[in-house]
Amino acid sequence: MLLDGKKLLITGVLTDDSIAFAVAKVAQENGAEILLTNVGRGVRLTEKVARKLPTPSDVMQMDVNNSDDVAAVASEVMDRWGRLDGVLHSIGFAPQDALGGNFLTAPWESVAVAFQTSAYSLKGLSVGLLEPLKIAGADGGASVVSLTFDGRFAWPIYDWMGVAKAGLESITRYLARDLGEHAIRVNTVSAGPIRTLAGKSIPGFDTISGAWSQRAPLTWSLTDATPVGQMCCFLMSDWASMTTGELIHVDGGYHALGADFKPREE
Ligand code: NAD
Repeated sequence: MLLDGKKLLITGVLTDDSIAFAVAKVAQENGAEILLTNVGRGVRLTEKVARKLPTPSDVMQMDVNNSDDVAAVASEVMDRWGRLDGVLHSIGFAPQDALGGNFLTAPWESVAVAFQTSAYSLKGLSVGLLEPLKIAGADGGASVVSLTFDGRFAWPIYDWMGVAKAGLESITRYLARDLGEHAIRVNTVSAGPIRTLAGKSIPGFDTISGAWSQRAPLTWSLTDATPVGQMCCFLMSDWASMTTGELIHVDGGYHALGADFKPREE
């Protein structure tokens, strides 16, 4: 199977709608062994939803902004597996006043929280897990994968989260530059809109998601993250051995359109 023998750390499973849940499920179905993490009170939800996976998985507490938490997870990974073949960064957060049409008024404190948690943390997580990633890198390759929402464009209502995503995409390229010598690949997947807790917490989510349902060339389901999970698993597999610093869209082809196409008939 595609991920036979791979040891993966998966952050961000909160409910069974979470994109990370789809990644965890596809990963297990394809032979991977996984460890889940989430932050604070989210851990109890993660533990509950982990029972719905094909193989129930352990869950650790890790605030991605807390280097001691990341170090504790790295140490557990070393004890458990002695290596880490892949890590999924599936984490995003922005205070409400940094989203939803508040671009011109959002205070720096809120912008800073959004950037730290949603972008800078990719660097913190990758460096915090460097020891086990390097071991897998020396033994065939390791992979860091994150999730973005096409940060090349200004979207309605996405505001400072969009700026943080542009940062995440740039950090992906810089990490690819600096970790390539250890055979650690770093890529980001730009997903179309999915109705998760994070998605629904964006005021006006429907203004973006409606456009997808109408226009994506391949059509798009707001409730099925499986295609996103499959791409993340591909990037963590040996089949992606020479791909790094890349942004890959899993959005039904929406990103390829340059004009406001006539909506299809319902
Ligand atoms: P989600 O709410 O299920 O997942 C977000 C996760 O981030 C949660 O598990 C939450 O606990 C975690 N998190 C927040 N702050 C954290 C911290 N300090 N430390 C550790 N974990 C923290 O929503 P989701 O939509 O599955 O989001 C996952 C990723 O996918 C995010 O990066 C999001 O921006 C991205 N994404 C989502 C969509 C969408 O439409 N839902 C589209 C493209 C990209």
